[in-house]
Amino acid sequence: MSKKVALITGSTRGIGLSIAESFAANGYNVMLSGIETSGDFTASELAKRFNTEVAFAHANMMEPAEVKRMVSDTESRFGRLDVLINNAGIQHVSPVEEFPDEKWDAIIAINLTAAFHACKAAWPGMKARQFGRIINIASAHGLRASEFKSAYVAAKHGIVGLTKVMALEGAVCNITANAICPGYVLTPLVEGQIKDQAKAFNISEDEVVQKIMLKKHAVKDFVTAEFLGKTALFLASEDASLITGVALPVDGGWTVQ
Ligand code: NAD
Repeated sequence: MSKKVALITGSTRGIGLSIAESFAANGYNVMLSGIETSGDFTASELAKRFNTEVAFAHANMMEPAEVKRMVSDTESRFGRLDVLINNAGIQHVSPVEEFPDEKWDAIIAINLTAAFHACKAAWPGMKARQFGRIINIASAHGLRASEFKSAYVAAKHGIVGLTKVMALEGAVCNITANAICPGYVLTPLVEGQIKDQAKAFNISEDEVVQKIMLKKHAVKDFVTAEFLGKTALFLASEDASLITGVALPVDGGWTVQ
């Protein structure tokens, strides 16, 4: 049997790249995706490092046609798509009355609508093969709110809802759908947020980390991207075949409070 294939959106850096490394290291062929032009180089590096096939689909998650093409490129390149990981995401931090309309639209488009289009495009193939794993990288903000993050919190709560519906519809054809809800992970997305929040709250960047971010975690540490890769790998495995529709917090105890 040919190797299983995982497609990870927003996988040129950060959490997505770490998840891609986990799948490449564990016997999957991998399709990376993103808007950065560095994707082809990253793909060939990963292929060499893990001795597996890795390709790159350049796609802007703002454009439904490009999302659909990313899925069909994966199926043409590898002959199948077993695991779809909707990870691409952006953030903007600002009080609601100043929140730019175009940032709201972009966050909903990339963090939520793109996942719908990707699931929809992947569905017929997964259904025909009677196997599929949808893994949505939501956030603790899919379960809890924070001020100044209206669009992000709305999109992440939305993707948790979408995950539950996909789980119900997928149950009859061996497709599971789960969301991972990370707490804070030190990636370029969060580094940007530290700067923005320092401005919004008028405090230092160190105070943002200690008093806002890690204050929410019961365990006073950032979640690591490597750990999220291992979590995704488990949810994609046969051992997780009865786990579906969950929003799994990996958040150092943030959402127990
Ligand atoms: P990141 O900024 O490091 O990476 C985001 C990825 O999304 C990049 O590969 C980028 O190219 C891609 N992307 C952005 N806009 C895109 C577009 N228009 N089209 C295609 N790709 C696009 O961010 P990250 O921290 O690795 O976040 C990854 C996911 O994890 C996001 O959905 C984020 O909301 C979620 N998340 C992050 C944290 C955290 O603390 N970092 C916590 C919870 C959830």
